[in-house]
Amino acid sequence: MTSKPRGPGTRAARGGEKRKNALDAVTQPIVCTSTYAFDGTAEIRDHFEGRIQREEYGRYGNPTVRTAERKIAELDGAEDCVLFSSGMAAATTALLALLKSGQHVVMTSDCYRRTRQFVSTTLPRWGIDHTFVEPGDYGALEAAIRPGKTRLVLAESPTNPYLRVVDLPRLVAIRDRHPGVKILIDSTFATPVNERPIGFGVDLVLHSATKYLGGHNDLLAGSLSGKASLISGLRDLRGVLGAVLDPHAAYLLLRGVKTLDLRVRRQNETALRVAGWLEAHPRVERVFYPGLESHPDHDVAARQMSGFGGVVSFQVKGGLDDASRFIDATTLPIIAPSLGGVESLIEQPALMSFYELTTAERLAIGISDNLVRLAVGIEDADDLVADLGNAFATSA
Ligand SMILES: *Cc1c(COP(=O)(O)O)cnc(C)c1O
Repeated sequence: MTSKPRGPGTRAARGGEKRKNALDAVTQPIVCTSTYAFDGTAEIRDHFEGRIQREEYGRYGNPTVRTAERKIAELDGAEDCVLFSSGMAAATTALLALLKSGQHVVMTSDCYRRTRQFVSTTLPRWGIDHTFVEPGDYGALEAAIRPGKTRLVLAESPTNPYLRVVDLPRLVAIRDRHPGVKILIDSTFATPVNERPIGFGVDLVLHSATKYLGGHNDLLAGSLSGKASLISGLRDLRGVLGAVLDPHAAYLLLRGVKTLDLRVRRQNETALRVAGWLEAHPRVERVFYPGLESHPDHDVAARQMSGFGGVVSFQVKGGLDDASRFIDATTLPIIAPSLGGVESLIEQPALMSFYELTTAERLAIGISDNLVRLAVGIEDADDLVADLGNAFATSA
């Protein structure tokens, strides 16, 4: 029997959960244990010889974490998923698992700063080379692939902070011309509600579950989803490197992710409204939001995404101090790094992530001093727009 795949709301609320839990609980219990008891040595043999599936030791698996992994796999439309203690633990474990000395990775330049740092300063110590390419330049991306050496193309979509969207069918077509290359998409900003890269043929999908999947600014976690054969190797390396998710955090993640579809739809709606409002505001120089026709990747986003996400970046007219005064005059968004939770967060990338650089150095990597990043939460759009309007009025 084939039936229509379940929608993201159903997958979020119900996916991956066993129908009957211990003590008849409707929710997944927090299994708080570091190790698991065997009935006798015969069971140990059965376990190691693959006749039974069971847990062994906390670094290799935990039922609470496993339930969250099954739920995220279902949301991503993937065969399997493995969770880590943070998004960076997922990213670094994937890079270490997929690359070895003498190999090469191609990566888009507009991306999470710490991933970029790991690729450009840590991987070279193990003889792994890299090339950064501008998002949207598919010619440069394909030209950067070194036959027999390049094993991975890593891209975020949408990117941080300019919300560039990678054309996934185009990227997959490039990969298919170069045997041995895999694609890893950091889909943190998209969430499985707005885009499911696995369905386009992408090999591996990463989420900083700290952001939308958790959704409440109360945990750190990271996930990798893909084919079971690929995930199994990543799970093995996690067991060695040890960046496992604590079962308490896994429970918070499970609880948070149940409302993912509701939250993200609301955030899509609010962000689109705020972006349009900002674009018409006389104090705003430029807005970056893939839902706006003015965004360079609007067409790509409209083709492959079902929503444009909850992050809006914009330049306030003036310089560093004008943007800072505007941010300080807001009262509803909280001034903090991160995104994806129920609370709106606002930040100035030039200060938050790139403070040690000069204005010229920041511009060289594309970060303008007057850039503001607003990650909308689930507050009422009317209240957010009113607060931003008031902040422009009082900071002029
Ligand atoms: C936050 C973030 C990460 C890192 O995730 P942590 O959970 O903070 O380790 C990676 N990629 C993107 C796009 C992010 O926003």
